[in-house]
Amino acid sequence: MNNLSTNWQRELRNAIHDPTDLLNLLELPNRLLTEMIVAKQHFMLRVPKGYVARMRKGDPDDPLLRQILPLVEENKQLQGFSLDPVGDVLAEKVPGLLHKYQGRVLWITTGACAIHCRYCFRQHYNYSASHSSNQAVLEVIRADSSISEVILSGGDPLVLDDRSLSELVQSLARISHIERLRLHTRCPIVLPERVNDELLAWLTKTRLQVIMVVQANHPNEFNESVNQALQRLVEAGITLLNQSVLLRGVNDNAATLIALSEALFKNRVLPYYLHLLDRVQGSVHFNVSQKNALVLLEQMRIALPGYLVPSMVREVAGMPYKKPI
Ligand SMILES: *Cc1c(COP(=O)(O)O)cnc(C)c1O
Ligand code: SF4
Repeated sequence: MNNLSTNWQRELRNAIHDPTDLLNLLELPNRLLTEMIVAKQHFMLRVPKGYVARMRKGDPDDPLLRQILPLVEENKQLQGFSLDPVGDVLAEKVPGLLHKYQGRVLWITTGACAIHCRYCFRQHYNYSASHSSNQAVLEVIRADSSISEVILSGGDPLVLDDRSLSELVQSLARISHIERLRLHTRCPIVLPERVNDELLAWLTKTRLQVIMVVQANHPNEFNESVNQALQRLVEAGITLLNQSVLLRGVNDNAATLIALSEALFKNRVLPYYLHLLDRVQGSVHFNVSQKNALVLLEQMRIALPGYLVPSMVREVAGMPYKKPI
């Protein structure tokens, strides 16, 4: 039993960090290394083997590979692509707690993730400077009765161990004005082993209503293990939503987006947001123009029932909600 519960931690320790290992696993030629950068220490290549197994061998354009491959293009600078594109720094109540939107706060619980997505808008976020003790964060939440929902984010909150998470959630549940707990996590998609008994135990025990927002960007990200993990969460009574990022070379075509919505719903996950890329330095090569994005949205509307069309949004620093496109 103990072994089972730590499976995910072993998976995480065995994640791929070495570009050469990745190319070997995928039977890709080593000359691709010349198109890759030596990624910065804090945001190096990182991908669980189980996720690599869903990539097509021998295909340098595989949509899952593109999400994690540190390409030389990351060095490209473009006006408007900044280090803090969504105004996180200004929204901090205390380091690590963002209060941008009415009634909801976002708690950056850790800087670590199970996977490093090259388009990530928090890739330059200074996590070590943006950390407060749990006590300090809880204090702020306790003092503001307008807050009814706490979002655990990061990084990825589910890389924390279940004992810490369980204690943290119990502290939140003791604050009477908190009604909902939301988790923003990629783990059920990229590391399905993470959805284990220990996790389900504290998720189902809390009096708070739990919403989990996962992140899948392409239908190929689903396999039997992912489906099972999502199934377990559904059976635990958790509301499942998905947010995706519109990414050039990954999911910027209607057929893929439509198949993604359908794959999500097969697993009882509703598409929530389709984000236009946050203009963060290092992500220029993923950018899709707003004009093309709108064409894709129209094609999704034609092909899908309304409940399978996500809201297409862009986060604009200083706005009181995510801006619909
Ligand atoms: C995206 C975000 C939220 C959640 O917004 P919803 O529209 O409720 O999903 C909350 N806080 C911050 C800081 C965010 O970036
Ligand atoms: S899992 Fe989320 S926070 Fe982590 S690198 Fe990917 S997009 Fe960024």
